[in-house]
Amino acid sequence: MKQLILIFAFLLISHPISADALKTQLDLDLDGVMAKVTDWRHYFHENPELSNREFKTQQSIVQALNEMGLETNTDYGITGVTAFIRGQNPGPLIALRADIDALPVTEKLNLPFSSKVKTTYQGNEVGVMHACGHDAHIAVLLGVASFLSKNTDKLNGDILLIFQPAEEGAPEGEEGGAELMLKQGLFDAEKPDAIFGMHVSNAPHGQIWTKPGPFMASAEAYRIVIEGKQTHGSRPWNGVDPIVVASDIVSSLQTIVSRRLNLLDSQAVVTVGIMKAGTRNNIIPASAFLEGTIRTFEDSYADQIRDEIKIIAENIAEAHHAKANVQFKVYGGYPVTVNDEGLVETLSSSLSLAANGDYYEAKVPRTGAEDFSFFAQQVPGLFFYLGVNPPGVEESPTNHSPYFYVDDDALGNGVKAFVNLVDDFSYIYNNQ
Ligand SMILES: [Zn+2]
Ligand SMILES: [Zn+2]
Repeated sequence: MKQLILIFAFLLISHPISADALKTQLDLDLDGVMAKVTDWRHYFHENPELSNREFKTQQSIVQALNEMGLETNTDYGITGVTAFIRGQNPGPLIALRADIDALPVTEKLNLPFSSKVKTTYQGNEVGVMHACGHDAHIAVLLGVASFLSKNTDKLNGDILLIFQPAEEGAPEGEEGGAELMLKQGLFDAEKPDAIFGMHVSNAPHGQIWTKPGPFMASAEAYRIVIEGKQTHGSRPWNGVDPIVVASDIVSSLQTIVSRRLNLLDSQAVVTVGIMKAGTRNNIIPASAFLEGTIRTFEDSYADQIRDEIKIIAENIAEAHHAKANVQFKVYGGYPVTVNDEGLVETLSSSLSLAANGDYYEAKVPRTGAEDFSFFAQQVPGLFFYLGVNPPGVEESPTNHSPYFYVDDDALGNGVKAFVNLVDDFSYIYNNQ
């Protein structure tokens, strides 16, 4: 008899519960969850912090998770927070990731919770704003955490919450972001079976989209310093003009994508974003400075582009009796964000359901980059986008704009998407 009771108890405890237990519960709880998500979002929006400086943000996330009864860990990343939610039923370990940093952008929205924070960034006084919407990412993941931590009886397996700092890039000379968290061993003790991440975007209200395979570009900065010879602006023959050299280099860099890469294989972008030289109209300066970004969807393309930049810069400089020093990955770099094709195929219906059918798979990747890519190199990953325009608005300012606006109500689909992904992935995992 005792044995029978034990077996019965085992079945009750360990048998995976139905496929839709969490989804069904969320339908009942969504209004309550969203009230909290909105409060959190407004708080984080009003209190933005730059990459690797998210100290108050970290504290607030820890406090919110502790109030849910979750134990937190702040060992990963300079200002990261991680926590486990242990389900009462067997199943996979699923990682859910939100990035938490803001940008040196002076907010121009006039909301009751608009940011008034100011800081010094690279020597300039600037505002700080959650202009990329990471405030929404924190709030949505906290909402998901509060819901899941209350419903561990319906959760198959475990959740690893990752609140990741410095997605926008650590300050020069510092490490940060997903790469640092992994380097510090985030996945060493317990390796997730899958990882999911979301980004908000200026797209129709509540719309969700993703893409199997390469979804977002690799990104890295390069820098070229041209050493000429300073002289009087009236006697250029006595010096070596680095401005003319830099101009030639900038023009020739345009031929990398247009003339040197096979565009039938893949695409790339080579941009010069900074060109600086000189102090006065009648002085030919000693040096000139260029910095730019490289975007690709294949790592081998980035190798080829680096080679071409070096050949162009060094040889043009030499032809002008100048010297070019070329440096790559000035601020590190992000690999291509590749979505696991199997995950997208099996879970597209979970995302579509979250978006009430307003879901699509993009045909082409985006040239923006994401350091979610580092996580997705370690475990199968699925990254998706959520449109956060107000209802009925098609066009609105893009991420990183001082006018970037997040409609709170659109975030409900983000909460649903994460919960659906957890519900469905764990069910499929347990029944495969
Ligand atoms: Zn951004
Ligand atoms: Zn972002």
